[in-house]
Amino acid sequence: MKLHELTIQKAHTLLKQKEISSQELTRVLLDRIHATDEKVGAYITAADEMAMEQAGLADQAISEGNISPLTGIPLAIKDLMCTKGLRTTCASKILENFVPPYDATVVRKLKKAGAVIVGKTNMDEFAMGSSNEHSGIKLTRNPWDLTRIPGGSSGGSAAAVAADMCIAALGSDTGGSVRQPASHCGIVGMKPTYGRVSRFGLVAFASSLDQIGPMTKDVTDCAILMNVISGYDPGDSTSVPEDVPDYTTALKNGGLNGVTVGIPKEYSEVEGLDPDVAATVENAVRKIEDLGAECVEVSLPNTKYVVAVYYVIAPSEASSNLARYDGVKYGLRDKDKADLMEMYRSTRSGGFGSEVKRRIIIGTYCLSAGYYDAYYGKASQVRTLIMEDFKKATDRCDAILSPVAPTPAFPVGENTDDPLTMYLSDIFTLSANLAGIPGISVPCGFSADGLPIGLQIMGKHFNEEMLLRIAYNFEQATDFHKKKPDLS
Ligand code: GLN
Repeated sequence: MKLHELTIQKAHTLLKQKEISSQELTRVLLDRIHATDEKVGAYITAADEMAMEQAGLADQAISEGNISPLTGIPLAIKDLMCTKGLRTTCASKILENFVPPYDATVVRKLKKAGAVIVGKTNMDEFAMGSSNEHSGIKLTRNPWDLTRIPGGSSGGSAAAVAADMCIAALGSDTGGSVRQPASHCGIVGMKPTYGRVSRFGLVAFASSLDQIGPMTKDVTDCAILMNVISGYDPGDSTSVPEDVPDYTTALKNGGLNGVTVGIPKEYSEVEGLDPDVAATVENAVRKIEDLGAECVEVSLPNTKYVVAVYYVIAPSEASSNLARYDGVKYGLRDKDKADLMEMYRSTRSGGFGSEVKRRIIIGTYCLSAGYYDAYYGKASQVRTLIMEDFKKATDRCDAILSPVAPTPAFPVGENTDDPLTMYLSDIFTLSANLAGIPGISVPCGFSADGLPIGLQIMGKHFNEEMLLRIAYNFEQATDFHKKKPDLS
């Protein structure tokens, strides 16, 4: 196996046995980035110097006998998590030259565990999008078919993992942004329970929905990263002071006897569900049954409101969160304007891309006096009903199975002029964020065109272990995760 193809677990074994050094591995990954990323466009910033320095420290620690599962492992970080001394752009012109003076808690935890950060990955601007086409910096392409989108908004992280330009990565998920690009790029992506992982230092999009999650080559690596990034943080008042289990103990290949999985009846009626996706997910469900799980039909009657509710709540919160980019505190400023109002107007008009502006306008409208009750207030009430749907459904089962996206990755440019179609494609992923529950995407097959398709497993609050157990058993019984895109 080539070094850039290693998983966290395999790289750890080689590092521990001193068969490779972290500096060697990091160099291989950086070389791979410089050779391959011209085609894929996954990275906004490659951090060669910093990474080699961290790798040197990791090798030092290993030689002293201090090795943890992440020591010396090269990882990529979505470019909206603050990295001290390393540019953090959110793929926006307004933050193009922003260098944070501190690390996000997850980054601090990774560094403390000895990980090496090779670079910052591309995304839709401020994480608003499902295709990476809304990046204000560059386009990322799907490693499986360079004419197609990698998914979004964590498309850079997903493409970097799929193209072996890092061992694993972190993404963020407000309405599907870890799971959907994971599905489109044939990797594993988990959105943990709201409150499980600290968001201190994660640039805020929609604060009642945002979560950080692992994007990895297999389920084992997902559990390893979850162990490191999870847990209470006084810096994030929404992080929950619950004990963090050892997620790797959920990785038992003992079958799924005693597990009940729910299949939402409303999901088969979703308009625009691609037949390849439907058939592939159906086969995956059957496989999970073969592994011993019992399948029951469940109902999520408010599915029809999910997209509307999300696209009121997320833009509303975004419009408030993004008010801070005013040209005064940090980021871009149009210095040529004589008065303050003109400076605000010009900075924000020039600094934000069109999708971000669309969301700010929608959100400002939904929150404005006279409209708040009709939009944000009403959407919040329906959100409660959606949560109750999931509560009732998961009273009858341990996890819910569904597609991640209604279609495989679509061609670049296909939906850019049609925001509504783009929004509708989020139908299967938005609910987990609205309900605060965990969800994982695991590779479950390929379309007729050879594009990866993911299976989504959603569960109960703080029961990530159940998702990992089902995903792991499924993965061990299949070999979809072993396939690699051909980038030669
Ligand atoms: N596609 C969704 C949106 O555009 C979700 C994005 C995300 O999870 N960050 O809002």
